[in-house]
Amino acid sequence: MILGRVQVWLLALGLLAGLPGAGRAETLTALAHPVPGQAVVQDRGAGVELSLGLSQGVPWRLFTLADPWRLVLDFSQVDWTGFDAEAFDRSEHVLAVRTGGLGPGWSRMVLELDGPMKVAQAALSGAEPAGPVLGLSLEPQDAEAFRAAAGVPESARFTLPEDARPPATPIRRQDGSRPVMVVLDPGHGGVDPGAEHGGEVEAKLMLTFALELQEVLLRAGFEVLLTRHDDSFVPLEARVSIARAAGADVFLSLHADAVTEGVAHGATVYTLAENASDSASRKLAERHDREDLLAGVDLTDQDDVIAGVLMDLARLETQPRSERLADALVAGLRRSIGALHKRPRLEADFSVLKAPDIPSVLLELGFLSSARDRKRLTDPAWRARAAAGIRDALLAWAKADAAEARLVRK
Ligand SMILES: [Zn+2]
Repeated sequence: MILGRVQVWLLALGLLAGLPGAGRAETLTALAHPVPGQAVVQDRGAGVELSLGLSQGVPWRLFTLADPWRLVLDFSQVDWTGFDAEAFDRSEHVLAVRTGGLGPGWSRMVLELDGPMKVAQAALSGAEPAGPVLGLSLEPQDAEAFRAAAGVPESARFTLPEDARPPATPIRRQDGSRPVMVVLDPGHGGVDPGAEHGGEVEAKLMLTFALELQEVLLRAGFEVLLTRHDDSFVPLEARVSIARAAGADVFLSLHADAVTEGVAHGATVYTLAENASDSASRKLAERHDREDLLAGVDLTDQDDVIAGVLMDLARLETQPRSERLADALVAGLRRSIGALHKRPRLEADFSVLKAPDIPSVLLELGFLSSARDRKRLTDPAWRARAAAGIRDALLAWAKADAAEARLVRK
């Protein structure tokens, strides 16, 4: 069986839908609602027209996906509670309409189409007094052109489309032609404070460091997104899903744990343990609800084994990239702070490292149980040196990784 890269990516897109819950309480403040009686999708000749009244204007974007033909609308943020997809869909060309939450701050509507269609027109009007209405029209298109334009936009940032065309570039491996998207994951948060020692709390300290590191990386030309911006609880799989939704090139989880026995100090860089990979794939495939997967890609007629194989294929390419990233971080931190653990490069079965398609590492910056490390971690000057070491590591890694990407494609 030969599986193309496109299929692997499509699978990865499917995983995007595995988000638990519709977000945290503090993201629910600026929700828009569909306006009852002002939402319909219907046929207009060979084409389709969509009209969706919203209680308030929200950032949104759209893109298309092939196999099956889909139009995806993302909103920041629409509460679909009470939305009647069946009453909404009066179109023969629209085979199914699905709506749902897509992690903190995101909502999605997916229209499954009976053939390739292009977006001829798309606009969110601010018409008063009825309120804003999203109007879309679709026209038939040939399959080749549809496929060429299909794919998830590179940036997770919501922007109003300049014109009606969906973004043409699918997420792909970074090759130096665009900014590298780094997702920083400050460990723990909210009900889970992580390690606590000598008056210091891991969750709080790692958020501080992530915000500082974000500044350093932005100045170096990276795009940066954090999995949390405050002291809130984010489930582990949601952290990975946020990274995927952002089109992350790198996922970097930040921790400073404690040991209860013995003495340990210094930074450690973890990658996913080799023997964890297979079961990770399978567990992911088993856990992710079929209906959820449908939002990104139709896996209903694929069994868990095939889903696992697809993920393993993606991981085959990703794992060595993660390993090289970890090596680069060890080298960068050794130069900038020197204070590394006696075994600075370890492997473990961490859930947040299980994205099959995103190079992922977990950095234990130090041990809160060590007085020496606590002193370092709470010293802004030391943290600045650590951030510079990580920046240098990411720059070196991204350059080598891009060169390899260009070689692989040739
Ligand atoms: Zn931790």
